[in-house]
Amino acid sequence: MNRDFASDFLNTTVESQALFRKHMQATVEVLVRDFAAAEKPYSGAAPQDLAAAFRDRQVCPEQGVSMEELLQFIGTTVVKHAAVVNHPACVAHLHCPPLQASLMAETMLATLNQSMDSWDQSMSATMLEKEMIGWLCELFGYDKGISDGVFTSGGTQSNFMGLGLARDHYAYSKWNWNVQQWGLPPQGDRLRILCSEAAHFTVKQSAALLGLGQQAVITIPVDSLGRMHAHVLEHTIDRLHQDGLLPFALVGTAGTTDFGSIDPLPELAVLARKHGIWLHIDAAYGGALALSDKHANLLEGIAFADSITVDFHKLFYQPISCGAFLVRDAVNYRYLQLNADYLNPQEDDQAGVPNLVGKSIQTTRRFDALKLYMSLQHLGREKFAAMIDYTLELALHTAEQIRQAKALELLAQPTLNAVVFRYLPSGEIDSSQVDEINHRIRDRLLASGIAVIARTKVKEKACLKFTLLNPLTTPQDTADILAHIVRIGLELEQQYVIEQHALRGV
Ligand SMILES: *Cc1c(COP(=O)(O)O)cnc(C)c1O
Repeated sequence: MNRDFASDFLNTTVESQALFRKHMQATVEVLVRDFAAAEKPYSGAAPQDLAAAFRDRQVCPEQGVSMEELLQFIGTTVVKHAAVVNHPACVAHLHCPPLQASLMAETMLATLNQSMDSWDQSMSATMLEKEMIGWLCELFGYDKGISDGVFTSGGTQSNFMGLGLARDHYAYSKWNWNVQQWGLPPQGDRLRILCSEAAHFTVKQSAALLGLGQQAVITIPVDSLGRMHAHVLEHTIDRLHQDGLLPFALVGTAGTTDFGSIDPLPELAVLARKHGIWLHIDAAYGGALALSDKHANLLEGIAFADSITVDFHKLFYQPISCGAFLVRDAVNYRYLQLNADYLNPQEDDQAGVPNLVGKSIQTTRRFDALKLYMSLQHLGREKFAAMIDYTLELALHTAEQIRQAKALELLAQPTLNAVVFRYLPSGEIDSSQVDEINHRIRDRLLASGIAVIARTKVKEKACLKFTLLNPLTTPQDTADILAHIVRIGLELEQQYVIEQHALRGV
């Protein structure tokens, strides 16, 4: 029997340890050379070029290749053509440069490969995650002794869990109905979820997955700053009741994806309490403000939420994936509770052995808590807050640059660090053409590797968006990108005018 596998795993042998050192070092060199040192936020390669690089190579060769050759190949095909999230001009999405401390942690947790579902797969890790969850609960004003939570893959999972508990809690407290056992109650098609029209699409996705259908989601209009109109919410709740419908959950957003808007959380809390509605706050984006002396007040009222979503792979600068779900009253976890004999037997519960599987819809689960822990430890709160504060300031500054530019229109004053705007042609050009020009500006910036920016739609108008998460981006960087946008916009506009003249001339 061939048993020559020792060096393929890290273990007690000196050879395996020497290889681990050598290959880790070589991996670091590739990341420095082909990623960190990149001069542009994207190489500009077209999709078909990138596909070609892998087509000529067998995915699973009969005999393996050396790590040296493999790193060389991956460096030139994958790493060199990645979105350089660390680059100051990579400003498209809620997609952050990861902190150095978090990269050390990521390496460590991958190597340890603990699985957070049961104590016997993650002893120290379980304890650290519990410690982190306690800290997070306090950060958002929860009572550590009563509340609980879990690390998740991100906002999608956290929102789903919040709405799932809300549904089950409502059915149980209103009709003594056990959704876990019996499925949706007979009144299921009358259940309704409220959120603003700017809420994340995962609210509708969750409604669909929870068997309620997207029809269950009632959206409330927002004001000019993108915040839910609380008085419209109140009228809507009354109207739903009059129509015999059952609003059971209200999702408030702390940091909408486009404008970073924060719903009036205290008012939402009052209405939710008054009508017996579960309040879930989606703070995937804005949750990080809790660290800031300057901006934590924007989250006022979040402590009244029944559950909270927070993402760390956004404004907490963690590698994907990393998020958390928090619930104010841990008793509500009972709607998720299942006991598997091999993971969390009831004897363990009685003996006080913590098995986290009952807190998540994931079973095998990463030890992502370590990343946030090591980052907080290494930076300290003050430095973390200073980074967040800086990016909010940068967004205000960039909004001002846009306001001053004749060829650009700012769509809204930013609340967090997302800035939405569009190029405005100087001449008479019909609106579909203006949309087209804005799309093409973004495509050209990407194809030339000048900048990676986002596009979005606001009131049916095509817009451009910067999400300024990167604390290394300077006002000069945003000014430079804006100058390129104006230049490209002008070129496209002139090209269009010439084409129109030619058409008319025919
Ligand atoms: C990013 C985001 C989500 C989705 O979270 P993932 O981490 O991408 O799963 C949900 N809500 C808001 C407000 C977000 O910004």
